[in-house]
Amino acid sequence: MANGLLTLSYLIGSISFIIGLKLLSHPDSARKGNIYAALGMTIAIIATIFLYKDSKGLALGNYIWIFGGLLIGAITGTMAAKKVQMTAMPQMVSLFNGMGGACAAIISIVEFRHLIREGIVLSDEPLLAFIILAGLVIGIVSFTGSMIAFGKLNGNIGDRTLPLQQVFNIGLLLIIACILLAIIFGIGSSNVVILFYILLIISALYGILFVMPIGGADMPVVISLLNSFTGVAAALGGFLYNNPVMLTGGILVGSAGTVLTILMCKAMNRSLTNVIVGSFGGNKSGAQSTVAGGTYKEISITDAAVLMTYSKKVIIVPGYGLAVAQAQHICHELEKVLDANGVEVKYAIHPVAGRMPGHMNVLLAEADVSYDKLADMDEINPEFAQTDVVLVLGANDVVNPAAKTDPASPIYGMPILDVENASHVIVNKRSMKPGYAGIENALFYQPKTSMLFGDAKECLNKLVQEIKSLG
Ligand code: NDP
Repeated sequence: MANGLLTLSYLIGSISFIIGLKLLSHPDSARKGNIYAALGMTIAIIATIFLYKDSKGLALGNYIWIFGGLLIGAITGTMAAKKVQMTAMPQMVSLFNGMGGACAAIISIVEFRHLIREGIVLSDEPLLAFIILAGLVIGIVSFTGSMIAFGKLNGNIGDRTLPLQQVFNIGLLLIIACILLAIIFGIGSSNVVILFYILLIISALYGILFVMPIGGADMPVVISLLNSFTGVAAALGGFLYNNPVMLTGGILVGSAGTVLTILMCKAMNRSLTNVIVGSFGGNKSGAQSTVAGGTYKEISITDAAVLMTYSKKVIIVPGYGLAVAQAQHICHELEKVLDANGVEVKYAIHPVAGRMPGHMNVLLAEADVSYDKLADMDEINPEFAQTDVVLVLGANDVVNPAAKTDPASPIYGMPILDVENASHVIVNKRSMKPGYAGIENALFYQPKTSMLFGDAKECLNKLVQEIKSLG
């Protein structure tokens, strides 16, 4: 009876993950998707705690430890999620992802010690050994890599490249593969326990070193790759414990993360192999990005309002600065007043705008911007040539022409929004400071570009008032 109930709850959990993931693919239904998946997870956890019996028919026990851990985790998670700023979300995602990786690695450590205590020779059980060791390596790489990604996104760690970094990283990967094979096939008479802990240390080092040099706007790819690593590590845990819900959850996270990584690589025009050996973006030695310099012109709120009001078509390009200013609601207001004046308004969404995949979609959905108004980069790029005004709101790297023209630039090769094809470009930001990739932007100095300096929310507020007074 209890066994049947446990299987049923795992089935409900697995189905809720699949439905949840499907709903997450659209901003309108994403909240619901999150709740379904969380409910499924809760059912699976509660069922495991109370219904699971091992081969000897014994229940889990250790309830004080289990509920103590659950309570601490739930309180910390809820407080962190409530307090976090929208702009700090990517750091939080990295941190949570790293915790998932650490859990998977801990499962491997516990099960390895268990096998050794029972006197089981790992080379006699190659499949079991592979699952434990792969869970350890992938989990620990995901943990240390995510911690470095957290530090970088939080601004505590800069891009650092060692001499011969790529060769070093490939060397580490080879050592990891050799130790793995040595343990699984019992090659040499080495001490398996020592080899296991050496594997742990080298994997941790690899996680640090492969994320460390990545920068120059390439962080999104790494984040989704680490996410898929955690999924795979969790799926290995599910395989180890013969737990279908853990297996389904892990496979879903692993495959969704892999698909996202491939899409991100395409969006950034990067190769996956380069990400894995940690050799792209950042400060390539010898690479000197051309400094734009020159003179730029400013535009007043009144002139910007007149220009937009008498346009046929305006495209808004939202970026990280819009999220910092929390200007999504007033941005929607601007869209509505322009629309009331007969201006066609669209939003151009670059795949890495903001600080995490889908950041701009979520931000604008929060302000009730209609999803039909959002256009992806490939769809909108041909439209700029027929656009009167492009309003760039707190975006920088995603409209930087150096990606097309400057081979020495760390963002070279990344497709960008072709805003310079429009008749006029208005750029709203607070200063001439660079964006995330830390590089100059020649767009700001082009004759058709005008700078509208100030906080996005304040500027948009004034713009809306001005346009209303014109109408
Ligand atoms: P950028 O970081 O390139 O530029 C944002 C600009 O916003 C800055 O130049 C800043 O200029 C301006 N800004 C900041 N605060 C305000 C404010 N209150 N009001 C108005 N402007 C403001 O952002 P983009 O969105 O163009 O590009 C995203 C970058 O982040 C890319 O390099 C991307 O690769 C990277 N990234 C993306 C991730 C993702 O998954 N999407 C994850 C990690 C990194 P100023 O200080 O002068 O105001």
